[in-house]
Amino acid sequence: MQTTTTQLIAQANDAILHTYKRHTIILEKGDGVYVYDIDGKEYLDFGAGIAVCALGYGHAKLNNALKTQIDKILHTSNLYYNKPAIMAAHLLCKASTMARVFFTNSGTEAIEGALKCARKYAFLRDNHHRHNIIAFHGSFHGRTFGALSVTGNTSYQEAFKPLLNGISFAVFNDSESVKQLLNQDTCAIILETIQGEGGITPAHKDFLHEMRNLCNQYDILLILDEIQCGMGRSGKMFAWEHFGIQPDIFTSAKGLGCGVPVGAFGVNEKVANASLMPGDHGSTYGGNPFVCAGVQAIFEIFQQEGIVEHASAMGAYLATQLDCLVKEFSILTKRQGMGLLQGVWVQAPNDIDSKQQTGIAVATIVAKALEHGLLLLTAGGNSLRFAPPLIISKDEIDYMVATLRKTLHELGF
Ligand SMILES: *Cc1c(COP(=O)(O)O)cnc(C)c1O
Repeated sequence: MQTTTTQLIAQANDAILHTYKRHTIILEKGDGVYVYDIDGKEYLDFGAGIAVCALGYGHAKLNNALKTQIDKILHTSNLYYNKPAIMAAHLLCKASTMARVFFTNSGTEAIEGALKCARKYAFLRDNHHRHNIIAFHGSFHGRTFGALSVTGNTSYQEAFKPLLNGISFAVFNDSESVKQLLNQDTCAIILETIQGEGGITPAHKDFLHEMRNLCNQYDILLILDEIQCGMGRSGKMFAWEHFGIQPDIFTSAKGLGCGVPVGAFGVNEKVANASLMPGDHGSTYGGNPFVCAGVQAIFEIFQQEGIVEHASAMGAYLATQLDCLVKEFSILTKRQGMGLLQGVWVQAPNDIDSKQQTGIAVATIVAKALEHGLLLLTAGGNSLRFAPPLIISKDEIDYMVATLRKTLHELGF
């Protein structure tokens, strides 16, 4: 007898710790920009596993590279060198124009490494332990203690205090608020080049330049979290390229592995030469040959298939189509984002400032769209997030927009 979705979900709840509000579908396979549940229902995927599956599902070259590597060697530890890690590191250094990289297993671990790097750099320079870090309200950097400490969302933090000492939060895109927090012991400023959970909010050019200048002036390290907005998603390989600045430290994950669990942090020459030393940091799995064979193949595919250029063109198209929807529906209040990372803000039901009679919780829209075979994400507050595979086509964008329009009509808007 075929085990039903309901039975399997009951089994899941018996064994998997309940930390997610999951949609009640069980996904089984993927093909291109579509995924399929165990009943064979097809979904157009505008979430890409939370901005991960940049190459969609079942990319033959990526899959073959991984299969080949499985038959060679899966894991070596970092006590020895392995070729895929060497190749992947060079490709990531070249793509980011940074000097050195360290591979992790996730985004949050990349943040941990970046924070340790910044602390060590400042410690070597000043030989004291009073260093502080400036982060931003509305940010998201991950769930481990260091990353959680710089995440500007009190509801994620509350139950887990005490967190890291010496973290303060400024207002995103407000340089004055940063200057007010800055002092002689500030060792790093950390921000997402495009805030994800913060409603897909890109940094302003002036603001980012001011952050760069402040950091230069006081020898503070600028850490850019590109875990979500990097790897081509913004229409450039790294979102900072839109602004003409470079970080001192950056973090990557999500699209870096396209589904293979891998992250990285990278540093410029100055930081590489005066921060983490042998013995300071490590990871048993980090940068193992299996994941790095994936990273290597991903960079090669990006190059061969012009993925970043395609993302840029499709991102511009998606933005114009979403702008049309925002004009059409008064509950959609604004569209913001870059490339194939877009957010549409939705009037919340309880928004007392609004001139609207009623709004709607984005979760309701997402649930209805899912019934129609469209996977969407939310982002912080009350916004919809659009983060399709970077291989998405115009037709698929049109289909998504038509489905969303139908969904909003059905919900009475
Ligand atoms: C997803 C995300 C993280 C955390 O990455 P994990 O792999 O989930 O640990 C950190 N920062 C940003 C901007 C993210 O989007």
